[in-house]
Amino acid sequence: MTETIAAKQIRVKGIVQGVGFRPYVYQLAGRFKLCGHVANTAAGVRIHVEGPQTDIAAFLASIPAEAPPLAQITDVDTMDAPTEGFHRFDIIASRDDSAKSALISPDVAICDDCLQEMLSPRDRRFRYPFINCTNCGPRYTIIDDIPYDRPQTSMASFPMCALCQAEYDDPENRRFHAQPNACPVCGPHVQLLDGSGQASDTKDPIGTAVGLLKQGRIVAIKGLGGFHLAVDAENEPAVARLRQRKHREEKPLAVMAYDGDRIRRFAHLDDEEMAVLASPQRPILLLAKRSDQALAPSVAPHNRYFGVMLPYAPLHYLLLEKAFAALVMTSANLSEEPIAISNHEAVERLAGIADAFLVHNRDIYLRCDDSIVRKTAGVTRFIRRARGYVPTPVFLNHTPPPVLACGAALKNTVCLTKEDRAFISQHIGDLENLATYGAFRDTIAHLQRILAITPQAIACDLHPDYLSTRYTTEQSDLPVIQVQHHHAHIVSAMAENHLDGRVIGLAFDGTGYGPDGTIWGGEVLLAENNRYERAAFLEPLPMPGGTAAIKAPWRMAISYLYQAFGESFRDLDTPFMASVDLKEADILVAMMQQRLNAPLTSSMGRLFDGIAALIGLRSSVAFEGQAAMELEMIAAPEAAAPYDFSWQASDHGLRIPTAPIIQGVVTDIQHGLSNAHISRRFHTTLIHLLTDLCSYLHRQTELDRVVLSGGTFQNAILLEELSRSLAKNGFAVYAHRLVPPNDGGISLGQAVAAGAMLADGA
Ligand code: ZN
Ligand code: ZN
Ligand code: FE
Repeated sequence: MTETIAAKQIRVKGIVQGVGFRPYVYQLAGRFKLCGHVANTAAGVRIHVEGPQTDIAAFLASIPAEAPPLAQITDVDTMDAPTEGFHRFDIIASRDDSAKSALISPDVAICDDCLQEMLSPRDRRFRYPFINCTNCGPRYTIIDDIPYDRPQTSMASFPMCALCQAEYDDPENRRFHAQPNACPVCGPHVQLLDGSGQASDTKDPIGTAVGLLKQGRIVAIKGLGGFHLAVDAENEPAVARLRQRKHREEKPLAVMAYDGDRIRRFAHLDDEEMAVLASPQRPILLLAKRSDQALAPSVAPHNRYFGVMLPYAPLHYLLLEKAFAALVMTSANLSEEPIAISNHEAVERLAGIADAFLVHNRDIYLRCDDSIVRKTAGVTRFIRRARGYVPTPVFLNHTPPPVLACGAALKNTVCLTKEDRAFISQHIGDLENLATYGAFRDTIAHLQRILAITPQAIACDLHPDYLSTRYTTEQSDLPVIQVQHHHAHIVSAMAENHLDGRVIGLAFDGTGYGPDGTIWGGEVLLAENNRYERAAFLEPLPMPGGTAAIKAPWRMAISYLYQAFGESFRDLDTPFMASVDLKEADILVAMMQQRLNAPLTSSMGRLFDGIAALIGLRSSVAFEGQAAMELEMIAAPEAAAPYDFSWQASDHGLRIPTAPIIQGVVTDIQHGLSNAHISRRFHTTLIHLLTDLCSYLHRQTELDRVVLSGGTFQNAILLEELSRSLAKNGFAVYAHRLVPPNDGGISLGQAVAAGAMLADGA
């Protein structure tokens, strides 16, 4: 008895292009002896199969179960179709379609198969730095439009040789329809340029670059999403020179090492951390320094951690293979400008910084920095989300109208929503200069094109003077929805945790514009997607000198002391007061009294800064958050009692005075207690205070979900111990896993909040 022949049409959505999905379907159809075809469409992948019912059912069940490692299926639609009498199964050419919702894969690190081939002398791609296959290689950064086919990528200008074409056409081959497929005969090549951009006549550009690096030279190296500046991480004068030329004084520099064995020479590395490092995304992971390590002190001064990554582009393996314990690999830019991506731009902007340029002729269409992650409370969390993760969307639990969100002023990202997906861009940078503003505009245009999204509204911050606000006024035809910074923080964490309704939101960070015109940053909100109410906040106090007080935490220390002790703060017998020029302190007090250039802030970040300065840890900082980070790092591991704390009712919610905490810190200083102990007591104080405060709010509101967001929650002690303490008191606690807790996550919160306000008919 023969089973009747049936036919089905199947549409698969998700990340199913550029990840070897069609050859996978082809082989699967072969296994079940089904006929028909598979094609990429702009909406995903479409399959037509014909065969016995039971075989089709088995085939359908296998599609998600055995999908290729880089595929991410979000939807499978199956419909009956007329049988057409096919006799074989084919992969057919891409068809355009009006509904573009195919998901583009992020850039993927070289896979083990390609690495083996590259290092094998008999392979035709031996030491060829552009080797790739359907499981690895560049994607997001080389795509100009969808569907994802070679003519729409920066590989369009490299026609394949006969051998590459044969691989590309063979469904059994690992390089079947691998769009960036190339070899030394037909593909891109590296070239070495001198410091002025002139081509050098070396026959071995990579070997020569390695030689320069060994001599302590700075080499700009073109990677996947932009240029790095590289130096030998063991060569202190070279690393110091890089810092000086790049105007980067103290911020840690990331390093890249060949493998786990070499990393273990300078950092602690367990199996879980190794798995994060070796994942196809290859992020920079913060690893604790070994005490006996020998990397240059300038790599990460005053820091217990190194930012470490494994090689991800084939070129990186060739550079690191023989020579170095590690290379410093830092984004090629000046301070907070965008990373350089074109050869011409690199030579122009990095003149005087790089001694040589290792470039190639495969264009980068979109810049994308390295991602940075840290493991806290057993979870890998983002500090910066970019290469390897973008443009993978965050899936929402609802379908807001399509919105473009412009993000925050610092650590800017943008976000576009479509159906139940929120596409957060790569880290763009601080929107404070025109170069970054250009990158911001390019990224929006590019994402709108490759995602085919036409937003119905633009979301932005409340702040009147941001560059992103200027952008929204240029898009005059769309309604603009302003979302308060800390509301956006809380909604970003709600969105990735699929929370609806009302929550207690703890939003702690350095700076965010408050609707009352003061600078917020120590906020306890009762928040929903579309609205919030300020339930409690750190008592606002002046920042003498405005942004100058961010760069000079000693100014904040004076402000806290003045608040806590009044005029008599001048007589305090502490090393800090002994170090302060009293005339300067008087100027600050006058500014505060007359409210001259002394904006009020409730910022938690400033409180960390102020205490760091009070205990003599740091009176000025080279980058925002530095003092707070160092205060966390010195905290003693053993428990300590909290300082006194309280809160008082006010017209705008509960006010948390800082004076009792500051008075406690000063008493400990005067009693000669260690900084480690004081830091621990301060952390303990916050944990007790916030747990008690949430319990109080719970009694008022019955809310039992607490959401943690804002840059302060990069602090591992606070995140871990506060989460534990809240959980012990019966709260469900939600933090970030998919986007950074810092301002890099703001665009997601803005998009979801604005979508909710729009749906509300606001
Ligand atoms: Zn590969
Ligand atoms: Zn070729
Ligand atoms: Fe923030």
